[in-house]
Amino acid sequence: MARLSDWLRERRESGGLRELRPVERLGDGRIRLAALPGAPPLLDFSSNDYLALSAHPALIDSGRRALAELGAGSGAARLMSGDLVIHHQLEEAVAGLKGKEAALLFGSGFMANAGVIPALAGRGDTVCIDRLDHASIYDGCRLSGARLHRFRHNDLAHLEELLQKNPDSGKCLVVVESVYSMDGDRCPLAELVALRKRHGFLLMVDEAHATGLFGLNGGGVVEEEGVGDEVDLVMGTFGKALGSYGAYLAGSREMIDYLVNRARSFIYSTALPPAVVAASLAAVELVRQSSELRDDLWRRVAIFKKLLRDGGLKADLGPTQIIPITVGESARALRMAEALRARGIFATAVRPPTVPENTARLRFSVTRHLDAPQLEEGAAALLAVLKEFAPELLA
Ligand SMILES: *Cc1c(COP(=O)(O)O)cnc(C)c1O
Repeated sequence: MARLSDWLRERRESGGLRELRPVERLGDGRIRLAALPGAPPLLDFSSNDYLALSAHPALIDSGRRALAELGAGSGAARLMSGDLVIHHQLEEAVAGLKGKEAALLFGSGFMANAGVIPALAGRGDTVCIDRLDHASIYDGCRLSGARLHRFRHNDLAHLEELLQKNPDSGKCLVVVESVYSMDGDRCPLAELVALRKRHGFLLMVDEAHATGLFGLNGGGVVEEEGVGDEVDLVMGTFGKALGSYGAYLAGSREMIDYLVNRARSFIYSTALPPAVVAASLAAVELVRQSSELRDDLWRRVAIFKKLLRDGGLKADLGPTQIIPITVGESARALRMAEALRARGIFATAVRPPTVPENTARLRFSVTRHLDAPQLEEGAAALLAVLKEFAPELLA
């Protein structure tokens, strides 16, 4: 076992030590680092609250009412006495949003992936995942005991090669994300679904960064591409664009009945508290009712990307609200994040092991909390920091 002090020192020296940084949210796109109470606030370019729903009155009212009427906690796991009517209401709403027969709530997205994958695959089975899949997917695979293959990012030819080597691809689970959380690019779902037709694997899509944002009803990329019937399991979280907390898995009635009996992170964990469920319910209703929130977000994303391109940034800014600026070494990414903070901008330096070696990056996300002048401020600061630390990225 590693000595803790040695381990921490090595991590610090390599620029890879993670540290907590409490913030105070000012509610207008700005945050203040609690450690620096006198310092000017920072613009938050690292939030996943894309639609700004965490501050929406509909969520807050719905949560507050449930808190008053139903109490602070659910009191037990769903299979004990914690199975409240409101849990079922949210499951029905999510199943509707996702165009699936049924859905099941989980405590969080991490718990959903860590519970669902081992429920479906075990020793003797094979799971194929994209090399950039989220840590919770990876951990779910490890827990399952199944053979694990990782294919090159978005490289379906590589996936097909792995499937051909596998004698029984009918007993294979493939897990991808529809929008990749640290790269902001999308999975080629239409082609993946065609591959599923040929090989008959079970397909699971994690829509953590897509739910609420894509598709006519905000159902996600699976809805936008019209492939809902060919995706066996659609997973997503309420903690990102839906502005609340918790997660879900949507699928056939049979699949959900099975998971109720097999997904250990569902069975052995206290049900989500009513106020959180009520806030999520309000969020699902909001995104289904109108596309205004989405249209407004995409307008802001377009403004930010145009400012960066007009400022000479050559990097591919991708098709989504997540904009990675890859700079290579961890230490460089950290120095740039610090320089951005000095200019009033909070963006996270994402480093290995979250991303592959030598692809440390600044991850910018655009949310509806940020208005046009704030987006201009963010773009100007980023361009200035690039000029100083990574001029090769500028024209
Ligand atoms: C954030 C995230 C999760 C985990 O969801 P939580 O609700 O935050 O636990 C799972 N998968 C992906 C792709 C994510 O980005």
